[in-house]
Amino acid sequence: SAKVIDGKLVSKQIKDEVAEEVARMKEAIGIVPGLAVILVGSRKDSQTYVRSKKKACEAVGIKSYEANLPEDSTEEDVLKHISAFNNDPSVHGILVQLPLPRHMNEETILNAVSIERDVDGFHPLNIGRLAMQGRYPLFVPCTPKGCMELLHRYGVEIKGKRAVVIGRSNIVGMPAALLLQKANATVSIVHSQTKNPEEITRQADIVISAVGVANLVRGSWIKPGAVVIDVGINPVDDPESPRGYRLVGDVCYEEACEVASAVTPVPGGVGPMTIAMLLSNTLESAKRIHNFK
Ligand code: NAD
Repeated sequence: SAKVIDGKLVSKQIKDEVAEEVARMKEAIGIVPGLAVILVGSRKDSQTYVRSKKKACEAVGIKSYEANLPEDSTEEDVLKHISAFNNDPSVHGILVQLPLPRHMNEETILNAVSIERDVDGFHPLNIGRLAMQGRYPLFVPCTPKGCMELLHRYGVEIKGKRAVVIGRSNIVGMPAALLLQKANATVSIVHSQTKNPEEITRQADIVISAVGVANLVRGSWIKPGAVVIDVGINPVDDPESPRGYRLVGDVCYEEACEVASAVTPVPGGVGPMTIAMLLSNTLESAKRIHNFK
């Protein structure tokens, strides 16, 4: 049965590596990497994400800054905060927690983050460069970067392989497909309008699924020996769990284990990698800005 790709373990290794580099940088040039997080409104899920990002920063010695703006702020207010962080020498990474309130234009806001500090990799210029041959973004979005990191650290060869990405969102599916292509895979994208998703997915040596539908990808969708990266996080009813639900991925895990050569569990696969990549992007940014090798 399939090897389990342990994202919890890999993310711990990455956090340890980041902590070591943060300490080395502070020691050598007296600079501490800083991450600024802008949160607009009071969505509970967003507050939770922001809190865990802050905690993760503290754990590795990155300084975190926060701007919490009320739901009824204007775009102008948000732009002012972004501009202040852009010009603050102690800030090396800026992220705007999404989704923004409906009255704001996401592109206008993301466009205002300086591309040198765009640690989420959502600035249109960074995305554009990801899509262009021979060009490279300054930052790559954290979740798809985490998927690639898992493939690399488990020694999965990508060059010349067939890959299928299920889902085409701006934050996961689309950049994941671009990254696989940059790594020289031949990539197909399966999405909500795809006619024969099972048949297409079964051609893949590498599958990345980012849809948000529990058990969408069955064992029969997977080519024997394929590597499966499951980004989905879906709550399903579970009367035996104290919370009344548990989290599963997009991929039917038990079935995938029978067919694939390696597979990520949910939870404990891609999930913990996202924040690890954010910390690593922030460190990388501070190193670049201060020309620290
Ligand atoms: P999204 O809703 O923005 O995008 C979903 C994509 O799936 C769309 O592109 C859509 O075309 C496609 N899709 C919908 N139904 C489909 C179907 N039946 N078959 C094939 N494709 C279909 O979602 P997202 O933000 O990309 O997130 C996807 C999943 O990944 C969610 O479960 C989310 O919770 C999870 N997620 C996890 C992390 C993490 O692990 N850190 C980060 C982001 C998202």
